[in-house]
Amino acid sequence: MTIDSILQQWSTLLLGVAVGAMITALLAWLMFYLQQKKWQLNVADQLEDSIQQRTLELQITLTELADKNKQLEQQNTRDALTGVRNRAFFDQKLSAEIKRSRRERSTLGLLMIDIDHFKAFNDNHGHLVGDLVIKEVANCLQQELKRSTDHLCRYGGEEFAIILPNTDNEGARVLAEQVRLCLADQRILYENLELSVTVSIGCYAAVAEINSSSADYIQAADTALYQAKNEGRNKVVCSALSQSVISEQETPDEPV
Ligand code: GH3
Ligand code: MG
Ligand code: MG
Repeated sequence: MTIDSILQQWSTLLLGVAVGAMITALLAWLMFYLQQKKWQLNVADQLEDSIQQRTLELQITLTELADKNKQLEQQNTRDALTGVRNRAFFDQKLSAEIKRSRRERSTLGLLMIDIDHFKAFNDNHGHLVGDLVIKEVANCLQQELKRSTDHLCRYGGEEFAIILPNTDNEGARVLAEQVRLCLADQRILYENLELSVTVSIGCYAAVAEINSSSADYIQAADTALYQAKNEGRNKVVCSALSQSVISEQETPDEPV
């Protein structure tokens, strides 16, 4: 064996070892790479799952929050005793409807309703009966309202107000008369009592002017209400300032 052949054998051996080492390194890197990919995919899956779960939880929370908001809004605008809209709602709604009346040139009606000799129910039968009378009157008034845009509100104590958008003097007077009759015909039963109740109603209807305010509407309807009280109660009086034109828009145009 010559020195050349020994060297050649060694170089072949070393080349084999080097190639083997390279292949092993390549395989090791490939396995590491695949392992990494698998891990990344797992992490991505887990992340997606967790995002989906959080989104669902968020949606549920948002729905619950919206329900709570609605519930709170209801509580804030409803009168606790009768369930009809309260004074805060009335103030906001009347002011909004005055703006609309001015904008659309439509007639806005307002009824102020006061139970006659209400104090006597409290004095003669106690406050529980007084409360019952207020509730029954509210129910009766609510039943008489047919349009979803009409709003019954408890104005205070034993007084109610009804906001009537797009309603002129005649429309307001007819509704007020229906309400008065409905109550006068009704009997309120409580234990062995059979109570009758009447109301006096003041009405006012007009297209809001540029400077009309809620106070103007309330004052006009209130003045009519006090006239009804003075004229013997169980009566409807419409303000002399009322108007009977619903809206210029509702009058059909003449063909040109
Ligand atoms: P009029 O015919 O002139 O309207 O006389 P009235 O007795 O109805 O009116 P008045 O203002 O003299 O009395 C109203 C009473 O209503 C006084 C108040 O104590 C009572 N009241 C106010 N709010 C409530 C309530 O929520 N429940 C009860 N039971 N009574 C109330
Ligand atoms: Mg009163
Ligand atoms: Mg009264």
